[in-house]
Amino acid sequence: MDVSSFDPTYECALRLDRQDELSSFRDDFYIPEGTIYLDGNSLGLLSKRAEQSLLEMLESWKKLGIEGWTQGRYPWFDLSERLGEMSAPLIGASPEEVIVTGSTTVNLHQAVATFYQPRGGRTKILADELAFPTDIYVLQSQIKWKGYDPETHLVKVKSRDGRFIEEEDVVAAMTDEIALIVLPSVLYRSGQILDMKRLTEEAHRREILIGFDCCHSIGAIPHALSEWGVDFAVWCNYKYLNAGPGGVAGLYVHRRHFDRTPGLTGWFGSRKDQQFDMAHTLTLAEHAGAYQLGTPHILSAAPLIGSLEMFAEAGIDRVRRKSLQLTHYLIFLIERELIGYGFMIGSPLEYHRRGGHVYLEHPEAARICKALKANGVIPDFRAPNGIRFAPVALYTTFEEIWKCVQILKEIMETGLYKQYENTRDVVA
Ligand SMILES: *Cc1c(COP(=O)(O)O)cnc(C)c1O
Repeated sequence: MDVSSFDPTYECALRLDRQDELSSFRDDFYIPEGTIYLDGNSLGLLSKRAEQSLLEMLESWKKLGIEGWTQGRYPWFDLSERLGEMSAPLIGASPEEVIVTGSTTVNLHQAVATFYQPRGGRTKILADELAFPTDIYVLQSQIKWKGYDPETHLVKVKSRDGRFIEEEDVVAAMTDEIALIVLPSVLYRSGQILDMKRLTEEAHRREILIGFDCCHSIGAIPHALSEWGVDFAVWCNYKYLNAGPGGVAGLYVHRRHFDRTPGLTGWFGSRKDQQFDMAHTLTLAEHAGAYQLGTPHILSAAPLIGSLEMFAEAGIDRVRRKSLQLTHYLIFLIERELIGYGFMIGSPLEYHRRGGHVYLEHPEAARICKALKANGVIPDFRAPNGIRFAPVALYTTFEEIWKCVQILKEIMETGLYKQYENTRDVVA
């Protein structure tokens, strides 16, 4: 990446946009009017392609009724498997190792119910103290289901600075009491990427299984989960993959586990050719499809079809290259334009450790965030003290980044943010 060409002028932003090889994708998105949308890591925007695939699904229901299960452009019966196949290149797995089903929270329950098998002295789960709350709630309840106390059996790796988790601290916590490790691929606040390859090797060397929550990495960075040997992963599709609010999520299981019985079973986990035998003995699919529970949420899965087609065209390596360029440009401008206002970059500066967003810390982050929104910039606030900016490769321009920093500078210069209370909104 040629970052030496960055300079703080508006012309530079325009030049970077002209050089952007992914610029044509922006026209496909509905950008909320009058806004600079930098919240694509919380809820990605609707594209015309995703809208189209949802409308086609409604059409097949309208025209075909029950026959939609096997007919139409996207028959519903194997839609989850087909979407798994389309997601596989993004997660770095073979098509049979991926299924689109459930939600992140449900899929994590499913994965932990399957892979958390306490034996002998190995009875604990290792996570981290910066983890997303739902992941922790899942682990706590799964530990209780196995008859243990989460207070003693959920071990959380500490952060040295409240921002990052050091891989060596995770490795040091891999004791012979740990049965399973669950970590984020990218931390939701700081945007730090954990070294999944190294952590998987270290875990396996100690006979510990390991899975990742890839909510903040899918669609932002490339993965090679299968090659790295990662045991399982879960993710949502409504952030960088733009599949819509509550869109159906993803689950990956390494093929070496295809002979396992999932912790939770349901009839959609059957082999497809036997599901409608209606037998009381379940014959499981011999791939990640076995981890499905009930009837797929077709209308909530539909937008993902169009979205994944776009990602296949754009290519995750090009998406990653532009994403890094965008976040680097944002950091470059913040460091030049916002000196003296008390901001601190809370994301890794090294490329290989930075995911798709930038976390900007400030004691008055909550009210600064409100002032940004009132001025058309949409980031999000994350307690206690950070503003997350997620420039998204398929629809954010360098010009928008430039304007965002100018608006932020003005808010600080004029003290505009002081009109707002320094508390978070209900959905922050
Ligand atoms: C967004 C996110 C979730 C959300 O889980 P849902 O079940 O979709 O509500 C979970 N974990 C992480 C790390 C997330 O970023």
